[in-house]
Amino acid sequence: MEHLAPGPPKAKKPAPTVFCYICGRQFGSKSIEIHQKQCLKKWHLENDKLPKSQRRPEPIKPEIIRTGGKIDHEAMNEAMWEASKAQLIPCEWCGRRFAPGRLEVHQKSCTKENPAKQVPKK
Ligand SMILES: [Zn+2]
Ligand SMILES: [Zn+2]
Repeated sequence: MEHLAPGPPKAKKPAPTVFCYICGRQFGSKSIEIHQKQCLKKWHLENDKLPKSQRRPEPIKPEIIRTGGKIDHEAMNEAMWEASKAQLIPCEWCGRRFAPGRLEVHQKSCTKENPAKQVPKK
């Protein structure tokens, strides 16, 4: 006997998202591979434009973390996120960390004479 479930189709699980270890943004697990290739290219372009003092070593892709034989996505995401944070450059005046393009914008208002005030976190 054919079984037809009444009501709307069961909601699919949301696509698992993965952090890009280079830029720290989230992507679907299917698009992350494609993105990371492009992201790394972009990273190199950006890095080459930076003054030598701000250049960073190439981001290292975190190893796959497994818990009980299964990939531990949560731990992986945390590792990816941490790795991406290492890519941020600290502002020499206020100490906050920025992506290379952002730092430039930020330092228009944050200077040695007048460093930006830290925004207190609530
Ligand atoms: Zn990325
Ligand atoms: Zn600053």
